[in-house]
Amino acid sequence: MVRLESLPDTGTVQNYVDGRWQTPSGNNGQDVVNPATSESLAHVAFSSPSEVDDAVEAASEAFEDWSTRPVEERIQPLFELKQLLEDHQEELAELLVQEHGKTHGEAMGEIRRGIENVEVACGIPSMMQGGTLLNAAPAIDESAIRKPLGVFAAITPFNFPAMIPLWFLPYAVATGNSFVLKPSEQDPLVAQRIFELIDQAGFPDGVLQLVNGSVDTVDALLEHDDIEGISFVGSTPVARQIYEKAAANGKRVQAQGGAKNHIIVTETADLDFAAQKTVGSAFACAGERCLANDVVVVEASVYDEFVDKVVAISESQVVGNGLDEETDIGALITPEHEQSVRNYIEAGISEGAELLLDGRDVSVDGYENGNFLGPTLFGDVTTDMVITQEEVFGPVLALMPVADVDEAIDVLNQSDFGNAASLFTGSGADARKFRHQTDIGNLGVNAGTAAPMAFFHFGGRKDSFFGDLHAQGEDMIHFYTDKTIYIERWPDA
Ligand code: NAD
Repeated sequence: MVRLESLPDTGTVQNYVDGRWQTPSGNNGQDVVNPATSESLAHVAFSSPSEVDDAVEAASEAFEDWSTRPVEERIQPLFELKQLLEDHQEELAELLVQEHGKTHGEAMGEIRRGIENVEVACGIPSMMQGGTLLNAAPAIDESAIRKPLGVFAAITPFNFPAMIPLWFLPYAVATGNSFVLKPSEQDPLVAQRIFELIDQAGFPDGVLQLVNGSVDTVDALLEHDDIEGISFVGSTPVARQIYEKAAANGKRVQAQGGAKNHIIVTETADLDFAAQKTVGSAFACAGERCLANDVVVVEASVYDEFVDKVVAISESQVVGNGLDEETDIGALITPEHEQSVRNYIEAGISEGAELLLDGRDVSVDGYENGNFLGPTLFGDVTTDMVITQEEVFGPVLALMPVADVDEAIDVLNQSDFGNAASLFTGSGADARKFRHQTDIGNLGVNAGTAAPMAFFHFGGRKDSFFGDLHAQGEDMIHFYTDKTIYIERWPDA
């Protein structure tokens, strides 16, 4: 069992509503389990619709006062929160590894990325300004004024349980809204610990709420009349459903979905560098990343040489408990998810891909009950295979030879998804084609993972995103505010 100040002896994950910790009363729930050891860390009970009502009511009441506070005052608790997160980064990372399974280094990086969003939101006094035009018409000055809207909610996935809530929360409250977070039920403890820090940071009661739960809790949020907008991050089928339901209920909605990302390697690339970055991109966080590039499309002239390099680096990856320093690839979130990844490996074999490295027989000394899979590589894959079309979300990388960059770009554009892609090349002309001819939200040239900094938006295209305004940065200011037009005429002036 994990120890948190706000976690009672029963080990039941807490809600945070109107500045107080509460045990959700829901009949349904599940254990929070360490994926490396299968040890139970806590229990999460799912909040009922009436508990969602309580949270939204507290948020609505807090909004009345919070939205009128001077913006300088609204960002002071965010400065506090930034410092608290910095001071507790190590402890947060340890908790995150225990409930998620990723490595300690990956957890530290995730928290850093989350903190960067708090930092960006501290710039709201500049970022939230509207615009004014003097003499827009005879004797008329005209302005567009950004106003907060009310209560917003975010529903977040298991794979970045610390960072993804922070794509939304700091911007929501800095702009003057109040906020409800529904974290993943698979690893909700780091969100609870972040809310302990939020409790110390000086936000007025009711500005920030934490509500634990699953599908019914989400439905109650989607149907609630007093919620203005919903942010969602998770798998594509759920993202599509959330987008449709929230829109049908008259809400603003941004829904980020799943992915299938590609790397292109051309014959002019630095192959050693590209191989190193390819392995990092595919296997970081055991492949459980929406930005993981897990199909590599390689110009035929360098295909064999590149494959040999990728195999050699992949073979050196150490699988283990994320808390052990030497671990490169941690545990997968659940035994069910591990089985789903194994099924994809079976599918790759039965569809005729060449199994270059088989991670299925990995065993980790001392952690025989963990959900581990070693790096798995397929060669000579084709676009009609399940492993090149569907999101695997595990340490499985597929390599495909193509004639040239034009064919490689065709392969990328055939995908239903459009979250991210990378190109390794020494040619500016190839880079330009890649930039102009792909329909993908995050592009990297000679970069393994096109992860945007917090002051840029984070979002994909096609089945990877439903909505218009993405997470992070300036898009969040637009999502969390509406512009009122203000026209002034003083004929005697
Ligand atoms: P998920 O869709 O299973 O769950 C996400 C959230 O939705 C959780 O809070 C969960 O409780 C809730 N949920 C699940 N099923 C629901 C339903 N039927 N109705 C209402 N709510 C429901 O996703 P996950 O497995 O937690 O996360 C992994 C997925 O998230 C992957 O597909 C990954 O690519 C995607 N992801 C996308 C991005 C991005 O920016 N595009 C970022 C991170 C993760």
